[in-house]
Amino acid sequence: MTIVGLDDTDSRTEGMCTTYAAAVLADRIRDAGGRVERLLLVRLNPAVEFKTRGNAALAIHCDLPVERAFDLAVELVAADAETADERTNPGVVVTDDALGPRPDWMQSISRRAVRELLDPEADVQEPLAEAGYRHRGWGNGRGLVGAVAAIGAWRAFGATAPDGWPTDWSYESITYRERDRWGTDRDVDPESVFAVADEFYPTIWDTVDRGEGEADQWEASWRSGDARSRGAKRAAEQGEAVCVPNTPGPVLHGIRGDDPETVREAADAIESEAVERRAVFVTNQGTDMHLRDADPTAVTDGRAYRVTGTVVDEPETRAGGHVFTQISFEGNNADALPCVAFEPTKRFRDRVRALRVGDRVTVCGEVTDGTLKLEKFAVRELNETELVTPTCPDCGRSMKSAGRNAGYRCRDCGTSRDGKVGQSVERDLELGWYEVPPCARRHIAKPLVRGGFDAPTHPER
Ligand code: ATP
Repeated sequence: MTIVGLDDTDSRTEGMCTTYAAAVLADRIRDAGGRVERLLLVRLNPAVEFKTRGNAALAIHCDLPVERAFDLAVELVAADAETADERTNPGVVVTDDALGPRPDWMQSISRRAVRELLDPEADVQEPLAEAGYRHRGWGNGRGLVGAVAAIGAWRAFGATAPDGWPTDWSYESITYRERDRWGTDRDVDPESVFAVADEFYPTIWDTVDRGEGEADQWEASWRSGDARSRGAKRAAEQGEAVCVPNTPGPVLHGIRGDDPETVREAADAIESEAVERRAVFVTNQGTDMHLRDADPTAVTDGRAYRVTGTVVDEPETRAGGHVFTQISFEGNNADALPCVAFEPTKRFRDRVRALRVGDRVTVCGEVTDGTLKLEKFAVRELNETELVTPTCPDCGRSMKSAGRNAGYRCRDCGTSRDGKVGQSVERDLELGWYEVPPCARRHIAKPLVRGGFDAPTHPER
């Protein structure tokens, strides 16, 4: 078998998308008499600043000879790359399924590309050329990082993956639009989207967001007042169709889930404008593969973590609606790690606001400028007491301070207490995992509904 790795063929202005390039290439491989075994959509480190959107890299597993597959890939990418903007730096790498001369290196690049920031030249381009892999880069060749990572992924994250690496592949059926409609409003029947989301949940997930309605998304269509448009309004009021992107590219909708047959069936059931083509991808989406365990003192920018500590700062809502708090490993402010739930995480911010100093939590997310951007958190222990001024056991009135470090006393009854007393507080959080809603999910982040978490879960849908 031959594996073609592909990345960075997209541009912000042209509205291309590397998954589309891979779907087209797969069809050209079939037209050339090849058999395509699978399409792999690998999400790499979401902290990479050059990404267009979701830091995707693609691999096509097929049975054409390496040279033939390489020619087809180069022909496809070169045609688009010539007109692309300077921020698009495509890369194509092709090898056999034993991963060529340096299989261990290739797999290590896959793992590092998901969890670290790589140096494109030293870490990838130089070893690639030295080992003699069939490859080609355009522009600064940065796309070769993703191309190599995508090739190594099937092994790196497969059954032989080391401890701490999830091996639960998920699937996405992506449906593409006719080229002349790219950049125009998408015509997708929202009622069919919500019906599909209901019927196939939880095998498919992140199809819709029932908490965040985007009524204006379909406003134009229901204004015309026909029967379907009235349905559209009803559906839009139920929430947001997360599976239909707003970006100008070729994707009409993407259905994510745990089973390839179900994502295919769900995509088939969505009514829409004419479909140009459709492909099912094997993916590491929804796996939390980017997270590594660490303590708050050991985190570095550009990486994503799962960190357990104690809340040391009362959550605070700042300008723009972003909610900040801090957690600490030692329970003091000296080594505190700032954490933020950004405004687009919507109702998740209420969960963060509900935290109190003294709560024990595990927080997950990427660290940038020393601040962890919350994707999910688990409440391990709730601080259910607060210290209050004691009341007099005889008269029931609040005691008064008896002076600095002298405790409290009731002047009328003569009763006294050494200091403040504990009183239980009502909490509106429970133990277990909380997550951002589907509308704010990062591609690689694992929805709670997928299961496998170490505490009870409170899934959003
Ligand atoms: P789309 O989702 O539309 O395909 P994208 O978000 O995947 O776009 P790219 O255009 O592929 O973004 O840009 C990401 C670039 O960063 C690619 O060139 C890729 O090779 C490179 N890259 C990916 N992961 C890493 C990493 N961990 N370290 C360094 N470079 C990386």
